[in-house]
Amino acid sequence: MKYLILGAGPSGLTLAAKLIEKGIKDIIILEKETESGGLCRSREVDGSPFDIGGGHFLDVRRPAVTEFLFRFMAENEWDRYERDSRIDLKGRIIGSPIEANIWMLDTDTQVKYLKSIAEAGSVSGAPMPDRFTDWIYWKLGNRIAEDYMLPYNKKMFGEELDSLGTYWLEKLPDVSFEDTLRSCLEHKAYARQPGHAEFYYPKRNGYGELWRRIADSLGDRLKTGVAAEKLDIEERSVNDEYKADVIVNTVPWTDFKEIKGASTDLIERIGKLKHSSIVTEYHKERMDTTAHWIYYPDEDKRFHRILVRHNFCPGSKGYWTETNLNRYRESENEHFVNKYAYPLNTIGKNEIMTDILSEMGEHGIIGLGRWGEWQHYNSDVVAERALLLAEKLAG
Ligand SMILES: Cc1cc2nc3c(=O)[nH]c(=O)nc-3n(C[C@H](O)[C@H](O)[C@H](O)COP(=O)(O)OP(=O)(O)OC[C@H]3O[C@@H](n4cnc5c(N)ncnc54)[C@H](O)[C@@H]3O)c2cc1C
Repeated sequence: MKYLILGAGPSGLTLAAKLIEKGIKDIIILEKETESGGLCRSREVDGSPFDIGGGHFLDVRRPAVTEFLFRFMAENEWDRYERDSRIDLKGRIIGSPIEANIWMLDTDTQVKYLKSIAEAGSVSGAPMPDRFTDWIYWKLGNRIAEDYMLPYNKKMFGEELDSLGTYWLEKLPDVSFEDTLRSCLEHKAYARQPGHAEFYYPKRNGYGELWRRIADSLGDRLKTGVAAEKLDIEERSVNDEYKADVIVNTVPWTDFKEIKGASTDLIERIGKLKHSSIVTEYHKERMDTTAHWIYYPDEDKRFHRILVRHNFCPGSKGYWTETNLNRYRESENEHFVNKYAYPLNTIGKNEIMTDILSEMGEHGIIGLGRWGEWQHYNSDVVAERALLLAEKLAG
């Protein structure tokens, strides 16, 4: 075939759908699971949808993306929300991001945090460090680092926290010291959220419904239950069965059992890619809050985030938790393990990915999406990249 796409998550599905729209029909897409949607799948749990890959919301910021996705699920099938996210500091609930909301704490704690930020490297003019953990101290000072940012991120990323770099910080809020001071004086948050300040969530069937509909539009070009295990880069074939002019890979490079024809350097580089795994778990109790989600830095709690389902999923009850797999303890509650959840932004990873994608590119194999590019991309971002790639491929 002309195009072989590996993986039917948002990246692969959007690419296939856009290529078809462009009149290119000679496509096969392979998906190892029996259903498509990847991390963005939903299942019904306790009478309502549960997003098995964690809380999933569609950012409103990319009109070209939402316009394309709304062809499969019209805008009136979604609710639009303004983000309400909170932080639980050992029982004291404040808004997020923390540095814009310390005004919600008692005066002594505000003074402690403000003094600590005032002494931080970012305020005193020290150079920005390369390591994420050092950056936290540099940006927010010791107090916020030790009470919130370090314990929270350690719960989320586990032992790898120390190996993370600082080149992905556009994912984090960037609140200046002046804005923190102004927040405390005026008793309101001064901050822009880096993502999901406003978002859509489907009125029915969860976020997975969107991707199910796109998958349905692909007909028998989509082959589910077929894992890509052997990639032959000279032959440009998969499993010795599917051969294509161009292969677009959206699955984790580390998931192939064999990559035939790859240089030793390439295999070594792929071996350096790291990821973390999370478990989502359902709880049927109703939470007394209007928040969409809440962050938990507290070491005593295994999970790091709660998604309050009844505040964004009409007619539902209950909530679900997200927990790093290494911290998770099996329970009776319905739960789902996501082995590949976060591609880790380790120091040097971008250089490694440039080399991997360049060698693969020489063989007509393109990496796309969260795993193909090994980036922390959200689904709207991977969809945008898939649309751009389709335009490029279709010439
Ligand atoms: C906890 C959490 C919360 C998130 N919240 C949001 C959010 O609120 N909003 C948002 O937009 N994004 C969110 N994201 C990001 C979102 O999940 C990703 O951007 C999106 O799923 C990436 O799509 P993808 O197709 O690149 O990868 P994936 O969704 O991971 O899809 C990859 C596909 O490849 C398949 N596959 C894997 N190995 C093989 C193989 N060997 N052969 C064949 N198929 C294979 C998988 O089964 C999967 O279907 C969140 C992610 C996490 C982990």
